[in-house]
Amino acid sequence: MQAVTFQAPHEIRVEERPEPELLAADDAIVRVTATGVCGSDLHIYHGRVAIEPGFTIGHEYVGEVVAAGDGVTSVAVGDRVLGCFQVACGTCFFCRRGDYHKCDGSRTFGHGATLGGLQGTQAELALVPHANLTLRRIPEGLSEDAALFAGDVMGTGYHATVAAGVKAGDSVAVLGLGPVGLCAVQAARAAGAAQVIAVDSVEARLAMAGSFGAEPVHLTEQDPRAAVKAATAGRGADVCVEAVGDPRALELAIRLTSKCGVVSVVGVYAERCEIHMGLLWIKAQTMRTGHANVIGHLDAVLALMAAGQLDPTPLVTHHMPLSDAPEAYALYDRREALKIVLNP
Ligand SMILES: [Zn+2]
Ligand SMILES: [Zn+2]
Repeated sequence: MQAVTFQAPHEIRVEERPEPELLAADDAIVRVTATGVCGSDLHIYHGRVAIEPGFTIGHEYVGEVVAAGDGVTSVAVGDRVLGCFQVACGTCFFCRRGDYHKCDGSRTFGHGATLGGLQGTQAELALVPHANLTLRRIPEGLSEDAALFAGDVMGTGYHATVAAGVKAGDSVAVLGLGPVGLCAVQAARAAGAAQVIAVDSVEARLAMAGSFGAEPVHLTEQDPRAAVKAATAGRGADVCVEAVGDPRALELAIRLTSKCGVVSVVGVYAERCEIHMGLLWIKAQTMRTGHANVIGHLDAVLALMAAGQLDPTPLVTHHMPLSDAPEAYALYDRREALKIVLNP
């Protein structure tokens, strides 16, 4: 089968790989019909996240179940399914508490040996462990493009607002309007936020946030602090979603957030980072961090998507054949695309 493999920084290849086989009773094999290129794939592409040469990358996928072990009961061969970027065991201490994202046996697709050695989904076939938790049937009427977001990008945007406790009438600022930030804008609106202030420096992304009901604010050509103050009677936002993963964005998020507000950090951090703890403390703010519990949120996200309250389809800017993956990565690296969908 064809698969997209990492070779070296800035070098990926479409090559022939052996077809996966069922290994455990709750494994399924999915024939992938659409697979996304994600910002975290770019970290691998750049060499910032080190994986083995020849490893298959990708972790966003929809497709059809073509094989399933005896222990798979929630989906069956022939079902059209979507899946999560990560798998969880369902039985460890954290899974029993519903914190699937911190499962002791968690593995992430397409991230090499360090994240569990699970081959990626930018391939014609993918082995999906713990299929009862990882996969869902695609709800009737939901497009493949939309379903592709449920197990990663929309799940993360939703998590950013739910973990922060966004409630009806709140004001929410979103910093960084990549796909996750744009999904957080929609999730905040769906949660009843009265105002969503969306900050970025790319005009097209600001325009899209505006079309989702946010007030777009340019990071440098406007003054985000003044805009948030003006929208909140000088208080600051009840919740600020930091969807960038940069200390400067985090500093701004603390400043945009009101007293007793919540800073919700879904931008990725792996290194030491200095923040103004004094400011956070004086303002009695709460900070939520970490990657999203997409398995835990999957059913709610699918219900909201099926009801049309969350609709990520405008984020898909490109469809390309899987064999064009090297061009797709180069295009995405130049920030000329928002979401590229590869079709094997
Ligand atoms: Zn992703
Ligand atoms: Zn677990």
